[in-house]
Amino acid sequence: MDLKQYVTTVENWPKEGITFRDITTIMDNGPAYKYATDEIVKYAKELGAEIVVGPEARGFIIGCPVAYALQIGFAPVRKPGKLPREVISVDYGLEYGKDTLTMHKDAIKPGQKVLICDDLLATGGTVEATVRLVEQLGGQVVGCAFLIELVELNGREKLGDLAIKALIQY
Ligand code: 5GP
Repeated sequence: MDLKQYVTTVENWPKEGITFRDITTIMDNGPAYKYATDEIVKYAKELGAEIVVGPEARGFIIGCPVAYALQIGFAPVRKPGKLPREVISVDYGLEYGKDTLTMHKDAIKPGQKVLICDDLLATGGTVEATVRLVEQLGGQVVGCAFLIELVELNGREKLGDLAIKALIQY
């Protein structure tokens, strides 16, 4: 299936000069959403993933159906103040300023093999911060899967030799 045809490109959103790739038109199409999920499920099986981790909010949309299909768990990565129990945090740089991501302290078991899922790889900052969270908890990141990679932004460079799969590239 040519998944790219289901992505909607929105110019000048959320700001003037930004080209936003909208994945809601993959999600609202049953066969396209299933195809995308199945491709990532295959990848997760190859890697032997034992749990899926995804950053809010679009990482949930991609990661949860993958975890469900494999009958493995899903652990959420959230902005500060959203998780109710003890958390660990990492800060990461944005173009202007910084942001913080958190995970529950007991979300990952030591040595557990983790697949990170998100909708889109841009600069790699979000996923790199997610890798750091998982590793602080003693998890082993076996790979990262995305619907879309914005190749020019070189996100892969931040992720070293981690296994990466992107279903669509721009
Ligand atoms: P990065 O941290 O790699 O620079 O940015 C990736 C994060 O920003 C992802 O969590 C993703 O949801 C969001 N993001 C950035 N640009 C886009 C875009 O054009 N489309 C979508 N769907 N998400 C984006």
